[in-house]
Amino acid sequence: MQPPLGSTVIPLVNKLRQVLTNVRDGDSELELPFVAFVGSQSSGKSSVLEALVGRDFLPRGSDICTRRPLRLQLVRTDEDAGEYEYEYGEFQHLPGRQFFDFAQIRAQIQAETDREAGENKRVSNKEICLRICSNRVLDMTLVDLPGMTKVPVGDQPLDVETQIRNMILSYIKQPRCLILAITPANSDLANSDALHIAGIADPDGNRTIGVLTKLDIMDRGTDACSLLLGKTIPLRLGYIGVVNRCQEDIELNRGIHDGLASEEAFFQSHPVYNGVADCCGIPQLAKKLNQIFVQYIFKMLPDLKSNIRSKLAFAAKEHSSYGHMPQEPDQGSLVLNILLNYSKAFVSLVDGRNEESLTSE
Ligand code: GDP
Ligand code: MG
Repeated sequence: MQPPLGSTVIPLVNKLRQVLTNVRDGDSELELPFVAFVGSQSSGKSSVLEALVGRDFLPRGSDICTRRPLRLQLVRTDEDAGEYEYEYGEFQHLPGRQFFDFAQIRAQIQAETDREAGENKRVSNKEICLRICSNRVLDMTLVDLPGMTKVPVGDQPLDVETQIRNMILSYIKQPRCLILAITPANSDLANSDALHIAGIADPDGNRTIGVLTKLDIMDRGTDACSLLLGKTIPLRLGYIGVVNRCQEDIELNRGIHDGLASEEAFFQSHPVYNGVADCCGIPQLAKKLNQIFVQYIFKMLPDLKSNIRSKLAFAAKEHSSYGHMPQEPDQGSLVLNILLNYSKAFVSLVDGRNEESLTSE
């Protein structure tokens, strides 16, 4: 199954990259936004991230699972595997070791979390960096963050709430960060930690997408329709409602594709969500992210263009300072030409000899 995330942007970004490899020197680098997953504990952040990537590899559960930021770099490889998926993960702390089994990636994230933050619920702001190389993704960075909590548990210090809050803010304050503000639909949106903290970092709402999870377990007789349409708390980039796998699904090892299929069935058969289909489901969330990426790239184009233009002008000026050259010079004659011009200038500077006399010698 083709993952929805990035699929429509891949050709555009690849083309741009081809252009930029010729002028790349840091400032013309195509700096894409990164996506941060923000919300209260157990709101479904890790579940949404996995569904977008289309792979099972994160610790998820009803207790605190994500205790260190996980920077997930999706890297597109050009490996031609035909119709097969070619994917492996690599951790920054284990260079050179490739994980083809994604269950082992999850075990490694758990072990590395315990190693740094202990086994009793403490959090740490030291990132785990995981790179997933694949022939079916767009180069993109996603950051899964510990959830916001209020009461310290286990070995957590008294100020754990402030610690987590500051950790989250350090990511989402960056202008290149797209904030996925995740709130469970079975709690009141006005109490949303995610929307609250996103509003601090992005008061104009230019970078915040609202995600409502757990639409399947809302109080009977209620639905999230007016929330999704932004009638309760308006959000410039809007909301998407999703249904992830529940804890029982996790325990029964239900796979990600099963989860996506039953989400689709849920929305299709629902009398209310049927009418707001473009606000519902992981594929719609991926589509929205793709659109925002494309808009972002288009916004960057004028800057990139003027950057390339000024580089071109500089190169042309430098080129003409080497003097006239025969049509399509080979490298040898190019170097000779440069040396000759250099010697001429040098000699005339040192002893005032006539340039002509040098060439005739
Ligand atoms: P995180 O702490 O925000 O990363 O949340 P997780 O992704 O670990 O999910 C917390 C718990 O909520 C897990 O048991 C998930 O199975 C469950 N969960 C997440 N999203 C949904 C959903 O849409 N519906 C249901 N029924 N359960 C969900
Ligand atoms: Mg999590």
